[in-house]
Amino acid sequence: MSVVQPQGKQYASGLLLKQLVVAWLERRGVSMDDIARLVYEVQQKYIRDLSIAACRESVERVLEKREVQNAVLTGISIDEMAEKGLLAEPLATMLKSDDGLYGIDEIMALSIINIYGSIGFTNFGYLDKVKPGIIGVVNDKKSEKVNTFLDDLVAAIAAAASSRLAHRDRDGLL
Ligand code: MG
Repeated sequence: MSVVQPQGKQYASGLLLKQLVVAWLERRGVSMDDIARLVYEVQQKYIRDLSIAACRESVERVLEKREVQNAVLTGISIDEMAEKGLLAEPLATMLKSDDGLYGIDEIMALSIINIYGSIGFTNFGYLDKVKPGIIGVVNDKKSEKVNTFLDDLVAAIAAAASSRLAHRDRDGLL
């Protein structure tokens, strides 16, 4: 997908930012359907007749939130800068080795997880521990790429989209 990048001081609209975020995630090897499958894995036990389409729709809604967009753009930028050797030490080594004591990747993910309430923490914890689907794939690529922020961002988007579905199901909106 080619997306026109906004130039200069002009701020991008939320819709353009969403398109950019989708394109950036795809550039890093993560598709909307990959994230929808994570949502399905988390929620299928709890929501009867849950469809992949409903999961995908929920991911789309989460990506319309500006704090989510900003977190994704920031995290992916840092991963890519680390990959290109543009960061100074000791940060460069911490990011390249995905140092478990770094912790800022998880902190950034919190700004996404929070959006649909505390159930997001539980969902994120599960995804972070089990690393199903695309999270495992992204994690396994860490020898060749820097995905220190990406794995947490993807898990957080899936966790938020799952929480959103849980709330909507309770409200009879599914
Ligand atoms: Mg990480």
